[in-house]
Amino acid sequence: MKRKKLPFTKEQIEKIISEYPTPFHLYDENGIIEYAQKFNQAFQWNQGFKEYYAIKAAPNPFLMKILRNQGFGIDCSSLTELVLTEKLGMKGEEIMFTSNDTTAEEFQKARDLGAIINLDDISHIGFLEKHAGLPDLVCFRYNPGALKDGNIIIGNPEDSKYGFTREQLFEGYKILKDKGVKRFGIHTMVASNELDPDYFIETAEIVLELIAEISKELNISFEFANLGGGIGIPYKNEHKPVDLEFMSGGIKNLYTKIITENGLKPLKIFFESGRAITGPFGYLISTVLHIKETYKKYIGLDASMHNLMRPALYGAYHHITVLGKEGQLCNKKYDVTGSLCENNDKFAINRLLPETNQGDLVVIHDTGAHGHSMGFNYNGKLRSAELLLRKNGEVVQIRRAETIDDHFITLDFESLPGFSV
Ligand SMILES: *Cc1c(COP(=O)(O)O)cnc(C)c1O
Repeated sequence: MKRKKLPFTKEQIEKIISEYPTPFHLYDENGIIEYAQKFNQAFQWNQGFKEYYAIKAAPNPFLMKILRNQGFGIDCSSLTELVLTEKLGMKGEEIMFTSNDTTAEEFQKARDLGAIINLDDISHIGFLEKHAGLPDLVCFRYNPGALKDGNIIIGNPEDSKYGFTREQLFEGYKILKDKGVKRFGIHTMVASNELDPDYFIETAEIVLELIAEISKELNISFEFANLGGGIGIPYKNEHKPVDLEFMSGGIKNLYTKIITENGLKPLKIFFESGRAITGPFGYLISTVLHIKETYKKYIGLDASMHNLMRPALYGAYHHITVLGKEGQLCNKKYDVTGSLCENNDKFAINRLLPETNQGDLVVIHDTGAHGHSMGFNYNGKLRSAELLLRKNGEVVQIRRAETIDDHFITLDFESLPGFSV
């Protein structure tokens, strides 16, 4: 149980609840900052290193501001995400735009902001040129296909919709060069929630080798290698977090061998991790509404899968703590459910927990990435508030909960009487 320690006490949560009713997501600023600093520290050897936080993981401007203050950029994949970075006053090469199946409007916005554009397909070169013009700097997303095994969440690269084939990369950079593009980047992302640091080292090797080959063949030079996201987190107690120093050390050795010793120009290493940056530092706090016993025992929470979809979507494990009962024996087996009219609305199935009662406070761990952001409104469920536990212990609301009026705002009830049936 050691690793799953909470950065707050039951008493603190009770005090928060007197102002902000459950359910809500609570983020730990300290944890986020410490991890961001560790990440930067691990890649100190690389001049220009930058992590672009994948904003889909937790698109909250307050969290973005904290990360930007640590030198992070933002990785966006949609128009709305681009507008969010703009609202924070971000622009230029602080923003990476890694999209796929992209609209003209999205490319235009990315160009207006001066974002680094990462193209998903060779046909998008012409599309981007036509609708927004080609920037000086262009990046391509590489899909290594059969060269690399995939992992569970993202699947096999060959079955993945993303990126260029190897041949298309050579052809694509040639096209860019002929069109006068001067600055080049390369990107790949073939893992999601991967805990093996060697996986990222092997991926770096594939990308760096490719950079060496393409540079030589086309007589161009690369400014950066974006190694994507996908760094996993220890959702389970027995998982070990990715050792960033080890991973960085492995990448550094390859860099020396493949880039420096080949006389290639220095290259910036980028990542666009989401999950690892905020995932472990978010908690979904919920109250037990009901205990039900039929063929099984159920803990019914006031949160549902609209607050956290991962268990229902992927069968993902999220650790659960019943507040104040941390020291008790976990000898009762429960399904922990929400209230959606969907039987897969469960946060845990056959989970061993201490004897739990109505009114108990339950903490679902590791909800700081792909938690609130994956929320939805099915069954008329309203999305919860997001709160931030600040470094000084203060709690601030960084997004209020939705109201029923928010939910109905896209409907025009005024025109209903005049609608004849
Ligand atoms: C989702 C995504 C990321 C972030 O992935 P994490 O698993 O959250 O690190 C980065 N880049 C792209 C292109 C993505 O789609």
